[in-house]
Amino acid sequence: MSSYRLMAVHAHPDDESSKGAATMAKYAAEGNDVLVVTLTGGERGDILNPAMDVEGVRDRMPEVRREEMAAAAATLGVRQTWLGFVDSGLPQGDPLPPLPEGCFAVEPLEVPTEALVREIRAFRPHVMITYDENGGYPHPDHIRCHEVSMAAFEAAADPEAFPDAGEPWQISKVYYTHGFIRKRLELFSEAMEAAGKTNPFAAWLDRWKTEQGDLMARVTTQVECAEYFPHRDKALIAHATQIDPNGNFFAVPLEMQQRVWPTEEFELAKTTVRTKIPESDLFAGLDGEVEL
Ligand SMILES: [Zn+2]
Repeated sequence: MSSYRLMAVHAHPDDESSKGAATMAKYAAEGNDVLVVTLTGGERGDILNPAMDVEGVRDRMPEVRREEMAAAAATLGVRQTWLGFVDSGLPQGDPLPPLPEGCFAVEPLEVPTEALVREIRAFRPHVMITYDENGGYPHPDHIRCHEVSMAAFEAAADPEAFPDAGEPWQISKVYYTHGFIRKRLELFSEAMEAAGKTNPFAAWLDRWKTEQGDLMARVTTQVECAEYFPHRDKALIAHATQIDPNGNFFAVPLEMQQRVWPTEEFELAKTTVRTKIPESDLFAGLDGEVEL
């Protein structure tokens, strides 16, 4: 079996544990080298878990989030590095306030792009995972994560771009991770109701206008990874300040998730190798075609 290198680019610590986490844990367990690149330190994340909103946590959030990230990476069996940009926060209000000075989303594009190119040329990933053009979630750092990832994908392979940032490297495939699949929540709703449990998604699905369509139409690749759902949950819970263990994220029992929807979803955005859609493996088509 070949061993490949997989890089996942994420905006904040905890994003890696909620988007494609079981897929990363699976590929790492199968002997591939998996590296998470976290663009910002998550400095502006609120404490979303009431049990963690206490003195001794609130006043040392940056360190706490680093400790949480290290625990999550260990659980997933992946390596992780920080690019060192500052969380832009999620602007709220009408009109929206301006983004804070010096934050990630207002950095000139070439600054984070060069930093990511440096990581790409050092790690030489065969496959990179990032977000789609809408960020998967409308946070300015997520949208910027998409823009930086796509710019770095092009620049990393271009010998004339950032010549001081390492030897050029061509990534073979780029994927967007898709978590908000309507069909998945509908099936979970049905299964919860059939089991006589409270359906946590009813109001959510009602608000979700059907004319918005379903991201499932964009999915090219479904990776079977149910065996690693417990790792995903454990990694999420490691981000203790960000995740309420009593929240909707954990409402559907693991065994029901494994039975009803045993995959994670991706969209192939760029490829330099030939592959057949639909795929069940992010490394499909790489065999014999890439330099290891
Ligand atoms: Zn995020």
